[in-house]
Amino acid sequence: MPDIINLLSDRIANQIAAGEVIQRPASAVKELLENAIDAGASEIQLVIKDAGKELIQVIDNGKGMSPTDARMSFERHATSKIQKIEDLFSIRTMGFRGEALASMAAVAQMELKTRQAHDEVGSHIIIEGSEVISQEPYATAIGTNIMLKNLFFNVPARRNFLKSNTTELRNILDEFTRIALAYPAITFKYFSNGVAQYNLPTGSLKSRIVGLFGSSYEKKLVPVSEQTDFLNIHGFIGKPDAATKTRGLQYFFLNNRFIKNNYLNHALVQAYQGLIEKDNFPFYVLFLEIDPARVDVNVHPTKQEVKFDDDKLMYAYLNAAVKHSLARNNMAPSIDFSLSSDIQQLPSVQLPASQRDIASAQSGYLSNSFSGKNQAHFIDKKDGLSRWKDIYQIAASIPDHPINQQTTQSTIPSVISTQEHAPLSVSKQNVLLVQGNMLVTTVKSGLMYINIRRAQERIWYERLMSQWEDGNTPSQRVLFPLTYEVAPQDEGLLLELLPDLSRIGFDITHFGKNTFVVQGIPSGMSSGEEQNILNELLEQLKHESNNATALPAQQMLVKVAQRLAQYIDNMLQPERQQALIDELFACMQPEYTAGGKKVFGVMRKEELDELLG
Ligand code: ADP
Ligand code: MG
Repeated sequence: MPDIINLLSDRIANQIAAGEVIQRPASAVKELLENAIDAGASEIQLVIKDAGKELIQVIDNGKGMSPTDARMSFERHATSKIQKIEDLFSIRTMGFRGEALASMAAVAQMELKTRQAHDEVGSHIIIEGSEVISQEPYATAIGTNIMLKNLFFNVPARRNFLKSNTTELRNILDEFTRIALAYPAITFKYFSNGVAQYNLPTGSLKSRIVGLFGSSYEKKLVPVSEQTDFLNIHGFIGKPDAATKTRGLQYFFLNNRFIKNNYLNHALVQAYQGLIEKDNFPFYVLFLEIDPARVDVNVHPTKQEVKFDDDKLMYAYLNAAVKHSLARNNMAPSIDFSLSSDIQQLPSVQLPASQRDIASAQSGYLSNSFSGKNQAHFIDKKDGLSRWKDIYQIAASIPDHPINQQTTQSTIPSVISTQEHAPLSVSKQNVLLVQGNMLVTTVKSGLMYINIRRAQERIWYERLMSQWEDGNTPSQRVLFPLTYEVAPQDEGLLLELLPDLSRIGFDITHFGKNTFVVQGIPSGMSSGEEQNILNELLEQLKHESNNATALPAQQMLVKVAQRLAQYIDNMLQPERQQALIDELFACMQPEYTAGGKKVFGVMRKEELDELLG
């Protein structure tokens, strides 16, 4: 048998490697912009032609390269950024693997002009498909001017694979935006087909945001700034009324590098809960700084997903920081009358939830729980003020608190009145079951009517939510485990759901071949409903799969709560009626369901009198 193993030529090896680093024009844009930043440039220009298919050019005024370095920079694993393996743990630059230029040179025609400040002349290199065509001394400005032409000219299959210009341009703009946001101290200019798209002068983060997203953002931004031993957070979040219907402007930067992280996104969106409509997306540009040693360093430089040592802690800090800044900036909407009218209709706008935030901010919750190292366990998610009544009372007792001045505002259902008919005064005997689905009782101000299903939904929702937040909830074993079979295309969906489901007490095992076995359910849930709940969750997920993973856990909780609330058991028993009312008013937001429906209403004594003329 002849030997059959060959070493790949450098050119082929580079072409293969190029596929990983450079998938589309936007990846080249990212690498080139990052190189310019690493070179210490204070001004960077990006020039694009034909969506990057014809030309991608980046001109910087950074430190430039010596003639030898200029030639070296196109070699694979040629980098000035690490020398020894330990350097990996203290990386401060954007790139470090020395692959980008080599990869680009393998699949495009490149031209490099560069000069260092102390050199009189610079160099000019032309390289095509990894082959150096020419290298000459060249008179050029300080810094680097690099052009990438005809990307994938020698890999037609890949070139054909490129998307429409619109799509490729959008990807390029995404990369440009992420980098421009992270470096407001650097001037950026972006031209496409000879037309200036952006001219972003050096400035503050706020002016950079406005420069990128438009002057309407001037008024939409709420600053966030928290310093702790573990984590610093700064940046801007959007006011609730700046939330959009489509997932759009949401940016996390970890140690100044753009990252995607669904878990952190959830922490953020959760902080807006009740302030924005369920399927709206809040704006944010947030910078998280954390000791690099706490981040998994072994991440590919082009990879945006990161792993943290302690993501629960990150979640709690971020969530608290956002709530804090919303409260501190009076985003508590019942105070801010400039809010748009549809926002004012939102339940939470009219409810003490926001007052709770104010109260918690004023009680220094965040600063208290953020002091000292290793005090993660001091973060109490239920900020000690969790009960609606207490919170209301605290808020109301603050002199000059807006809550005390709004009793006459008719556009906003008065919160004060809610307190008057506070459940404290519900008398035990006077509960009446009406039509099998409503409880009616007397309160100080009149007659209160409660929709039982909705009350149950609210109670379940908060119960599930707190179980979900606490993590491992004990589940209740079912007598007859359900074998649940799904369509092949749904198997993956359900698998994704399992971790969240298990957090609220579902014990579900994957048996392979589209089959799952349900052995446990949330305690308090009556068995027999598993199948329906799973069906509904899958159905909902499928419908929403196009708008990505909006709020899977939150939506799941709402769905499950709605399902569990369907049954009205034992409501004939007075103890059960009373228990429901007690549980309802122990909720944080008793007045509305998670889906925003009204749970109870009060008919005032005057209204009753009027009825009878
Ligand atoms: P990496 O950025 O991972 O080091 P690259 O292939 O992107 O790898 O770049 C290789 C080397 O070329 C860099 O380490 C740097 O020394 C040099 N280089 C690239 N672009 C520039 C630039 N715009 N200005 C100065 N030096 C550059
Ligand atoms: Mg690089």
